[in-house]
Amino acid sequence: MGGTTLHGIGVTGDIVVAPVFVMLEVELGQRTGAGPDAEDAALREAISTSVAALEQLAATVEGEAAEILEFQAVLLDDEDMLEPVWRAIAAGASADDAWRTIMDHEIAEYAEGEDEVFRARAADLRDLRDRVLRALHASEEGADRPTEPSILVASDLPPSVFLEIDPALVSGVALGEGSRTSHVALLARARGVPMVVGMGALPDDIARHTGASGVLDPEAETMTIGPDPGALDAARERMAAAADLAARASFLTDRPALTAGGMPVTVLINVDHPSIVDDLDPAICDGIGLVRTEFLFERGAPGEDSQYESYRKLVLWADGRPVTLRTLDAGGDKPIPGITLDGETNPFLGVRGLRLSMRLEEIFDTQLRAMARVAALGPVKIMVPMVTAPDEIAPVRTRLEAVIADLAARGVDHGHPQLGMMVEVPAAALSAELFDVDFYSIGTNDLIQYATACARDNRDVAALARGDHPGVLRMIDAVAQAGVERGVEVSVCGDMASDPEGVDRLLASGVRVLSAAPAQVGRVKVRIAESKISDGDG
Ligand code: PEP
Ligand code: MG
Repeated sequence: MGGTTLHGIGVTGDIVVAPVFVMLEVELGQRTGAGPDAEDAALREAISTSVAALEQLAATVEGEAAEILEFQAVLLDDEDMLEPVWRAIAAGASADDAWRTIMDHEIAEYAEGEDEVFRARAADLRDLRDRVLRALHASEEGADRPTEPSILVASDLPPSVFLEIDPALVSGVALGEGSRTSHVALLARARGVPMVVGMGALPDDIARHTGASGVLDPEAETMTIGPDPGALDAARERMAAAADLAARASFLTDRPALTAGGMPVTVLINVDHPSIVDDLDPAICDGIGLVRTEFLFERGAPGEDSQYESYRKLVLWADGRPVTLRTLDAGGDKPIPGITLDGETNPFLGVRGLRLSMRLEEIFDTQLRAMARVAALGPVKIMVPMVTAPDEIAPVRTRLEAVIADLAARGVDHGHPQLGMMVEVPAAALSAELFDVDFYSIGTNDLIQYATACARDNRDVAALARGDHPGVLRMIDAVAQAGVERGVEVSVCGDMASDPEGVDRLLASGVRVLSAAPAQVGRVKVRIAESKISDGDG
């Protein structure tokens, strides 16, 4: 491509061509210390200025963005955390030393946390530390902002700084640090800003590139500064095609999906965390095809009421559309400390999903109870993961019936959810008609990994793990056929249903219900609209 190409991790968005704007980290000076009273007063003022700024910013955003800012504002009000700072100042420390010391300590604790969500908080704390330091120095440092729509290039971009920049001026973001789960990545996804992170240390002379032309390509996971004219033209063409597709996708997003042959297709969404529906209009889908309930277990097994509240939120959001709740799918790529077994030689082939739930009777019954209760509020389906043998279904049905009988005996409101299975084990796919379930949902992520013997978390074998492998397609055909034979629904909730080529294959196999990642719904509907398939095909 010419120019300098930096390689990172593509987070979100389409290719974008725009001028580069390099945001440099500014070294903040050091206060000499004006005595305990003056330092105490200076820090208190810096904190209240920061709280005011965060609150003002929080009022302009919603959802996750507001949550991050509120978390920061609440910390600044935490007297327990601040206590050692005041003590250090009273003992003669300067305001910035005292503040930096306690914040660095907190940041280190979060950064060493076991879970990724916790670790992502460390970046929020760094952001907060620097905001207060800037206020303490009453400086304009860090206030360097683009004046035209640009690709921001920086080592890191704290969430609150990202939110302060006029979105119209941010064509894309390329960062040296960060991961797909960092908070700034989450915000970029929510705002639809193309982003590449994790590019490593930026070149020493990066600052001189402000104003150069840039190509940010999240799909290729690259950021190119100063590409040659041919590459720039090619990138512009791809950008125009992507914009055209995005416009069609946005037009179709909240319309019912129909093929060009006039056949309706049901499009559901996958929910990894209830907060993702905060900014979503339920009109974009025909329901929720998969709720990955693992989020509830991040800090150990949750109680019945807190689970009920999470499910209730989704059922109310769906407003009469069906909601498919999957029981805990721990193990394999989703280990949960304290719940999954330690020391298995191959956890992907071990006690995961339903196999684990059947050993954790108390936890399983609690989850089924919360699900049956929420079924009083709308159409709820229950789905069990990693089902292998036909005789695994009857014990689950018996448990569910016992839970419902208990709720009825105690006069607790409840419904009678359908019971379905995820089809993700090849042996189950090839004998699907033998399972006494009310619906099938094909988990192509696991089905492909088990059918092709390629671990889903191993990049080195990713090229072999293909949904269009004839062996995988035969399994999908077999499940679709079992659905027809038994007169029950067959959906697909694995990533293949979010991928345009996958959509073609699935429709050709006779699948008529797709459950996709929310961000992909528009594109899935574009692909459906382009399909020639009509009733009677597939
Ligand atoms: C799948 O395996 O395709 C699936 C949808 O479940 P998960 O990705 O949560 O394992
Ligand atoms: Mg799975």
